[in-house]
Amino acid sequence: MSQKGVRKGADQSSERCSFCGSERSEVELMFNGTGGAMICNRCIEHGYKILTDNNMTAAKGNGRRGGASAFKPLRQEDLLKPAQIKEFLDQYVIGQDAAKRYMSVAVYNHYKRLLAASMPKSEDDDVELDKSNIVIVGQTGTGKTLIARTIARLLKVPFSIVDATVLTEAGYVGEDVESILSRLLQVADYDVEAAQRGIIFIDEIDKIARKSDNPSITRDVSGEGVQQALLKILEGTTVNVPPKGGRKHPDQEYIQVDTRNILFICGGAFDGIEKKIAQRMNTNAIGYGASVRRTLDRENMMQYIMPQDLKSFGLIPELVGRLPVLTYMEPLSREALRSILTEPRNSIVKQYVKLFALDGVKLSFDDDVLDFIVDKAEEYRLGARGLRSICEAVMMDTMFELPSKQCDEFTVTLPYAKQKIDNADLIELKRVG
Ligand code: ADP
Repeated sequence: MSQKGVRKGADQSSERCSFCGSERSEVELMFNGTGGAMICNRCIEHGYKILTDNNMTAAKGNGRRGGASAFKPLRQEDLLKPAQIKEFLDQYVIGQDAAKRYMSVAVYNHYKRLLAASMPKSEDDDVELDKSNIVIVGQTGTGKTLIARTIARLLKVPFSIVDATVLTEAGYVGEDVESILSRLLQVADYDVEAAQRGIIFIDEIDKIARKSDNPSITRDVSGEGVQQALLKILEGTTVNVPPKGGRKHPDQEYIQVDTRNILFICGGAFDGIEKKIAQRMNTNAIGYGASVRRTLDRENMMQYIMPQDLKSFGLIPELVGRLPVLTYMEPLSREALRSILTEPRNSIVKQYVKLFALDGVKLSFDDDVLDFIVDKAEEYRLGARGLRSICEAVMMDTMFELPSKQCDEFTVTLPYAKQKIDNADLIELKRVG
């Protein structure tokens, strides 16, 4: 309908709104469409109100265009069982059985709680299900983000990753804690409903630990203040979120986001926490319960982690209380690194094979090349993160040259890989890793 379609004046008796039936003389404006259809200004206003009530206009600062959201509401029949969630994780994440089991149960319980909240409640049912935010402890590059991302992909809910180190208390340089919700809103394409049942992964939560075990006397800008600010958001509250993130300012429009049903997964390396765990276990061994001494696996103390260890590391007790599910990641063994190269559904090797297949080239790797890549990742202490950068160094020249050549098969051999790595800038490799 265009402005040209606006009719005012002449021949008013034959003109009626096709929606409400009002005559031309009863309304201020009448618009004509194709096939003799008419609509009056009142029906347009009425239609517009329905759209805004349903949050389907680009106006009112939410920035979201009309149309269906990519994220569908959660339904009982869509809720996967913990074993099914774990099975899906197994396709992408190598090892880490304990963490995968904990996460599957926590995520299942979280979404079950959401569904229960949306159902009618009987009068005598006063049991409230608490939120099951998660904290995963483990060295970098062991798959913490990967697990969280894979779960979000499975559940088809908005997922965002934020780095706790950029957060500061209000009034200091850095980002307000509320900005973690801006990212989620952006990912959800400003579909507030979808964002409110999304997942936020807060990385490097250990970096906002307070520096000493004693409650601070002086202000600790990067640590305790941020933990305090996170508390409420983690537990569940309504937050005024600046849609584009960054610092809040007075003339800004905000979107209200309720965080009650957002699942928070916090990850951190917690360097040195093994010592705190060992200290606690030694103390326990001397004191009460010393008779149930068990042999400790000193190589992997992380498996004995308890909430009080997070407190001794410098997380405030209130925050630890809001992260009731605590799990750990194993350091990746040689075998695990080797499997990461080939086994996950979108493993690095499978990705290269696909990339080459798109050019009509059949790519293969000799077995000893894969062992060599793992050796290098271990040698430079790059862990799983380094596998890709080492592969890139091996494959770069081929990826540059092959598309211009007449070639339909390429095998990466050990001498070839060694030569490429010797020529590669290892400083650069370490940096990427
Ligand atoms: P973290 O969050 O623990 O620092 P990431 O999840 O970001 O580690 O892992 C970095 C990359 O290493 C991932 O994208 C993935 O390719 C690979 N990776 C790490 N751990 C695993 C694992 N257990 N299984 C499969 N791939 C892994």
